[in-house]
Amino acid sequence: MAINLFTPNFRVDECLEGIRECLEKGWTGLGFKTLEIEKAWCDYTGLPYAHFLSSNTAGLHLALHMFRTEKGWQEGDEVISTPLTFVSTNHAILQTGLTPVFADVDDTLCIDPDDLLAKITPRTRAVMFVGLGGNTGRYQDVLRICRERGLVLILDAAHMAGTRSNGKHVGWDADCTIFSFQAVKNLPTADSGMICFQDAERDARARKLTWLGINKDTYSRSMNQGAYKWMYEVEELGFKYHGNSIMAAVALVSLRYLDRDNAYRRQLATWYEQHLSGDPAIGLIPMTSGCESSRHLFQVRVAQRDQVLMALNEFEIYPGVHYRDNTAYQLYRDSANQCLNAARASDEVLSLPMHMNVTEQDVRFVAEKLKQIVRLHRKA
Ligand SMILES: *Cc1c(COP(=O)(O)O)cnc(C)c1O
Repeated sequence: MAINLFTPNFRVDECLEGIRECLEKGWTGLGFKTLEIEKAWCDYTGLPYAHFLSSNTAGLHLALHMFRTEKGWQEGDEVISTPLTFVSTNHAILQTGLTPVFADVDDTLCIDPDDLLAKITPRTRAVMFVGLGGNTGRYQDVLRICRERGLVLILDAAHMAGTRSNGKHVGWDADCTIFSFQAVKNLPTADSGMICFQDAERDARARKLTWLGINKDTYSRSMNQGAYKWMYEVEELGFKYHGNSIMAAVALVSLRYLDRDNAYRRQLATWYEQHLSGDPAIGLIPMTSGCESSRHLFQVRVAQRDQVLMALNEFEIYPGVHYRDNTAYQLYRDSANQCLNAARASDEVLSLPMHMNVTEQDVRFVAEKLKQIVRLHRKA
């Protein structure tokens, strides 16, 4: 049987029960289950505010749009980001009329605070930090730099549902944290996400902006009796970025299993490490101390990665690559060749199969094949 990188694991009956509730109630949209998942997410993470979205991508754009308009940032003001991420992170900067400036990554594959310092200019306004694979990297140093320099810190926590740092769920100390509940992420739905601010004002503004700028949602209007339940105000130009109750019903079920699933991912990672450590041709990614990672990914670094990947495919092992250096894409080519570690990682990283159906035996098989293949390629 093929061993794939990701296979979402849905608790089908429980999901259907939640969806059935929405259908029977006749309420599939904003409100009802979306309010439930927001409350459940705050309870789970300890974060003070959470607003359910159609995706993390929408949230990244919304966050930058909100800070830009709130703080009066100008066209061409700069946001420092990582080249080693899904393009959503960096597209959000362009979509807001801001200029991405890339800082290199360190051996954790997250932004290197030393290079971040070197990339700060008088026009730098914000930093996007991506906790790659669920790891915190040198986030604490990045946070300190942002606080010292008055920069807004946005945490793209797409991989970090369930990641804790020194016992506390991540996200509470960034200016804005955005999670992804896309189908292959650790808390799978089909598409949805969560945006978390530290303060009530921004949370309230985010709620308006995800529904076109309308200041009262249909659900709270439907709860309202009286003659003016149709009445609402539109205060500013918004987007259609809010999540819906069907996705929320699935998210509520996935959230129940998040800690259990992440614990199993950490077990898989431990098994991979046991089988792969000590092989000089296979590089492991160091974990930050105090980080209890969601382990969205288990990445290794190998020479001749593309050949290794194809050779693994012959054994029906299908790993992935996270990510291609974004500055290698046409859209970002003006920024190419500035981040040497990211460019090297982009050629070397391989994400090994990581999901609930991977067994200890699978891990042993993948590790053995990987070691064999790497050995053959080294001789060739
Ligand atoms: C998946 C992902 C996103 C986008 O999340 P969606 O919910 O699919 O929009 C953004 N950033 C990173 C690092 C991701 O992995």
